[in-house]
Amino acid sequence: MTDFAYTQAIMEALEALYGEAHWSPRFDPMEELVSCILSQHTSDVNSLRAFANLQRRYPTWQAVVQAPTEELADTIRSGGLADTKAARIQNVLRQIHQSQGEYSLHNLNDLADSEARKYLMSLPGVGPKTAAIVLCFAMGRPVIPVDTHIFRVAWRLGLIEKRIGEAKAHDALQAQVAPESVFRFHVALITHGRRICKALNPRCSECPVKEVCFTYRESDAVR
Ligand code: SF4
Repeated sequence: MTDFAYTQAIMEALEALYGEAHWSPRFDPMEELVSCILSQHTSDVNSLRAFANLQRRYPTWQAVVQAPTEELADTIRSGGLADTKAARIQNVLRQIHQSQGEYSLHNLNDLADSEARKYLMSLPGVGPKTAAIVLCFAMGRPVIPVDTHIFRVAWRLGLIEKRIGEAKAHDALQAQVAPESVFRFHVALITHGRRICKALNPRCSECPVKEVCFTYRESDAVR
């Protein structure tokens, strides 16, 4: 069995139920970054509405930076935490312009995954999950974003230890997934976390990976 065979088998069992995901970028890296900041602590519907409002009002990133922060906050109000997010978006854009001389993340194309991740995480308010989302979703890089669903499913399956926390889970989980399967694995786990392996009352009897699930085998706590 290769190092990746276990996670590959889990992914394929989940895909048999949910279907196989195919990567294609929905946004360019800058758009993904700003969209991701807007998605913090709110639903996809609300954050995408806020992002659409931002794009409608401001034709360029420079216009976003030059807008009064209160005006930007009003524009993205539907995404929640608008005052905080408006200031964060402007700070991130300013820092990118300061370091790159433009409002662009083209520099990431020349960086290895670890360096690109480091650069993104040097931006104000950008943590490992946001950096991974930009790299994985917008650029197809083999960097796995770990959100609350992925973290929960991964520790229940026994792939990571719960006590390491979400931030360190990125490296621990990524080391177990074949680089070419990272996007598919991410989508399979997040779908499973939303539909069956829910935070409360997971529906283990319907789970296609229960036979290999550490939590299912070792405890009846989640049944
Ligand atoms: S058996 Fe239950 S706890 Fe384990 S992965 Fe499936 S739904 Fe989650």
